[in-house]
Amino acid sequence: MTERSFRKVLVANRGEIAIRIFRACYDLGLHTVAIYSNEDTYGFFRTRADEAYLIGENKSPLEAYLDIPSIIDLAKHHDVDAIHPGYGFLSENADFARACEEAGITFIGPPSHILSQMGDKLTAKAIAQACGVPTIPGSTEPLRDADEALEKAISFGFPVILKAAGGGGGRGMRRCDTPEEVAPAFERVKSEAKKAFGNEDIFIEKYLVEPKHIEVQVLGDQYGNIVHLGERDCSLQRRYQKVVEFAPAWSVPEATRQALYEDAIKVARHIGYISAGTVEFLVDKQGNHYFIEMNPRIQVEHTVTEMVTGIDLVRAQILIAQGAPLSVPEIGMGDQSNLRMDGYAIQCRVTTEDPANNFAPDIGRVTSYRSGGGFGVRLDGGNAYTGATISPYYDSLLVKVTCWDRTFDMVCRKALRAISEEHIRGVKTNIPFVTNILNHPTFRAGKCHTKFIDEAPELFE
Ligand code: ADP
Repeated sequence: MTERSFRKVLVANRGEIAIRIFRACYDLGLHTVAIYSNEDTYGFFRTRADEAYLIGENKSPLEAYLDIPSIIDLAKHHDVDAIHPGYGFLSENADFARACEEAGITFIGPPSHILSQMGDKLTAKAIAQACGVPTIPGSTEPLRDADEALEKAISFGFPVILKAAGGGGGRGMRRCDTPEEVAPAFERVKSEAKKAFGNEDIFIEKYLVEPKHIEVQVLGDQYGNIVHLGERDCSLQRRYQKVVEFAPAWSVPEATRQALYEDAIKVARHIGYISAGTVEFLVDKQGNHYFIEMNPRIQVEHTVTEMVTGIDLVRAQILIAQGAPLSVPEIGMGDQSNLRMDGYAIQCRVTTEDPANNFAPDIGRVTSYRSGGGFGVRLDGGNAYTGATISPYYDSLLVKVTCWDRTFDMVCRKALRAISEEHIRGVKTNIPFVTNILNHPTFRAGKCHTKFIDEAPELFE
């Protein structure tokens, strides 16, 4: 493939990730285009682009950002060379990537055939197995019905988890501890899968008790070069959704970490991965690791990897899509031996979720906003500013506060200070809850597993 330079990049997304991508484009001297829904008419992100266009005037707030034909038409009309999908919305949609390819617009991400493979968790597991990477014992084909689910559950042994093959964002999953729970869980996951993912396939696997969620960042260029950029510990979760993430996963034994890197590279190499991607694993108490899925896109928590490696992942995605090899100085990853990991980084997702009200997202007007700062503090925001209206239509993320420091203890203290400097009035936030996490001795000791939050009522005080 030949190297070509983009002139105009459209970001098919909103909020903080749109701004994050505009920043990378600006640094590369690229012209930027925002799209926004009716509901985002006053969204700050659209003012950060060189051009901004209303999309999906007659569509619902979510559908506006999912309207493939309108986005492609708009991009063609405004001479856009490339589209970055961000995360969520169309970022893992193979049809969208294909529509871009067919319109002669570069999709900044992996090719559509890779999205098709990785968009299905069962296919992804089969790929991992084919390269000898351990997976969690479970069904290898979609389940026919609830009876088969029960039969398999008994053969694998309780607890088990039912999963929608097309699920994401922590949805489409149900744990079952007893045989009685299987049939209702099956129906719930099935209807969720039908409604939300357009893929009704369901599979079952053994539920691992108290694992850590550790994921490896990979980057691949168009010439078959693939590197990893270390790992992130994303075990701090509520309802299967990440709250606080950090890098490196210092409390996981070195031998396990090396095995994770090797296996992540194996999977990425096997499918000829291109762009930034994340290979996710669960690690049990004995240090055994199991592949769960690969996310073929930039992730919310990419910031912590950037802080410890000094590599700009969104810039790398753009340059790779232009045809640059990993070794260009602007990316700075010749081969694996060039990777430098330094210090510790933590990302806190500051949201409008109200811990005192079962984490219901608060909405309304931000009457006053002042942000924190200082050495080693990075803010990715855009939804919170004085006068902003927080709508109920989109996710509840206000600002990502990512900190870097030399030791884990120092970075925890810095993160505590940085979130205490976030002065947000008018809407409730989860800052008190995140503060309790950062102060918790189990967190400081690196001992949190994926159920930690559920089992620590003191975090909600
Ligand atoms: P999503 O695509 O929705 O993010 P994942 O497959 O990445 O879903 O899983 C999200 C989280 O769900 C994991 O980090 C873990 O906490 C939990 N989980 C998934 N599979 C299992 C399992 N087999 N046993 C225990 N927990 C699991």
